Amino acid sequence: MIGATLFLVGAGLLLITATSLTGYDLLYPHQKRSVTVTFLFPIAATLSQLLGVSRSRLRTSFVKVNNSLTKAQRKRIGGERLMVLLPHCLQIDICNRKITSDVNNCIRCGRCAVGKFVELGERYGLSMEVVNGGSLARRRVALFRPDAIVAVACERDLTLGIQDVYPIPVFGVINDRPHGPCFNTSVDMALFEEAIKFFRKDAAVV
Ligand code: SF4
Repeated sequence: MIGATLFLVGAGLLLITATSLTGYDLLYPHQKRSVTVTFLFPIAATLSQLLGVSRSRLRTSFVKVNNSLTKAQRKRIGGERLMVLLPHCLQIDICNRKITSDVNNCIRCGRCAVGKFVELGERYGLSMEVVNGGSLARRRVALFRPDAIVAVACERDLTLGIQDVYPIPVFGVINDRPHGPCFNTSVDMALFEEAIKFFRKDAAVV
């Protein structure tokens, strides 16, 4: 019994690794991504804890593998109803515009990256939400019911979020934290735009 379980876990990990490396959807039609999200990742988390691998490194790997699997499944992802989730900590601390209620309250003054996101959102016709935690993110996702999500956050929040919203495909972009966690964060805009283009490959730019 233990041998069979180990064999299945090993085979699952092998299939996921091969899909990540080759970019071919080897998981179809068995939907092994659900196994990755709900089963293999918790096992990997426990094992890595025992082996002393940092949680941060494990979460970063999980986000990367998830992105590879999402890319490999591109033929099965619609992407017409694409949602962008941004963390509140992208907003500079001295700005008092209420962007969690409506990102368009940003006046694009250029003091932080939020204005650039609003511009990109208009250009690609995206639904964009700024959230200050997992609860608000879950509420906005439940309301909009997107085909796919591009989410910017730290590796911890992305790992939790990807598992929370499964089976909605998520492309995660890990933010930069030059001033420490949750404070005046930034993000590689080229990486973000690449993720948008992946989902909106057939959509005309507005
Ligand atoms: S770009 Fe928008 S969110 Fe950032 S400081 Fe200016 S108004 Fe505030």
